[in-house]
Amino acid sequence: MIDSYGREINYLRVSVTKRCNLNCTYCGAQNEKENNELTADEIEKTVRAFALCGIDKVRLTGGEPLVRKDICYIAERISRIDGIKKLALTTNGIRLKECAGELKKAGVRAVNISLDTTDRERFKSITGYDGLNKVYDGIDECERVGLSPIRINAVLIRGQNDSDAESLINIARERKIDVRFIELMPFSDEGDNDELVIKSDEILQKFPFLKPAAQKGTAFEKSVARYYESEGFKGRIGFITPISDKFCSECNRIRLLSDGKVKVCLGSDEVIDLKPYLCDEKLLEEKVRDAILSKPMEHKFSCGYGASHGLNKIGG
Ligand code: SAM
Repeated sequence: MIDSYGREINYLRVSVTKRCNLNCTYCGAQNEKENNELTADEIEKTVRAFALCGIDKVRLTGGEPLVRKDICYIAERISRIDGIKKLALTTNGIRLKECAGELKKAGVRAVNISLDTTDRERFKSITGYDGLNKVYDGIDECERVGLSPIRINAVLIRGQNDSDAESLINIARERKIDVRFIELMPFSDEGDNDELVIKSDEILQKFPFLKPAAQKGTAFEKSVARYYESEGFKGRIGFITPISDKFCSECNRIRLLSDGKVKVCLGSDEVIDLKPYLCDEKLLEEKVRDAILSKPMEHKFSCGYGASHGLNKIGG
């Protein structure tokens, strides 16, 4: 449906849990526990209400979605909802090798894998877990079972993993995988972090062989990323720039949190609790419409939004 600012909102990101099996320095999961996660039934009911309001693309995220034992069941239930045409997943990849085949059978198509470094020791220091090889195995398994497209999302942080830009770019050189750099957003308890953010211009200057690629503009491919390509590359390089170049006027998304609250904008504090309406389908649909209509014109990261909004809670 069309929101109050003329944007078509058709993309729902569903955080199925706040829990995570990694502990990335910049994310804020820090041993998050949760006992108020929506059940698979409740998630299905809620997504059904969103589908009635024009949502046709759903991404499962978290926390780490693959820590939920019923994740394939959740995926299957969502993929069968009338109107849902595309189901995707964002994961840290640690459990992907075990799950990729079942996820594909359950209706998941596209997978985004978060990977900030190709160095085993650095992976351990960023995530608190010696798991780089598991992520690589997960990527291989996605390719093997035919999940597509597969994308890698990386957050570069000055002084921590900025030297990984080249080796991450080389993944797109060698494999049919898009590698996307996401600007660090101010979600840690340290508040604003401007000096740590590596902006797209800095990367493009360092790798001048990257040239703007034709943007895929269909409704499904509508993406917040700007893509670049280079001769001989099998994949593309993308930039997601919430800090240096807001894309709010193009925003087509809304977020369902793991406890049943809706977050209408990543950069706003406003949430709408849908849990009280789960037993009344009509009312639930009405509340979803209200939520979509309350989406603000733009986010406010740049004016003080910061601490205690870890993406693990929101569903990055
Ligand atoms: N566990 C899953 C994963 O790792 O992809 C899904 C949740 S995670 C919060 C989703 C994405 O948010 C990851 O790619 C992560 O790098 C990104 N992220 C977390 N904190 C961030 C921050 N402060 N700024 C930018 N991206 C962030």
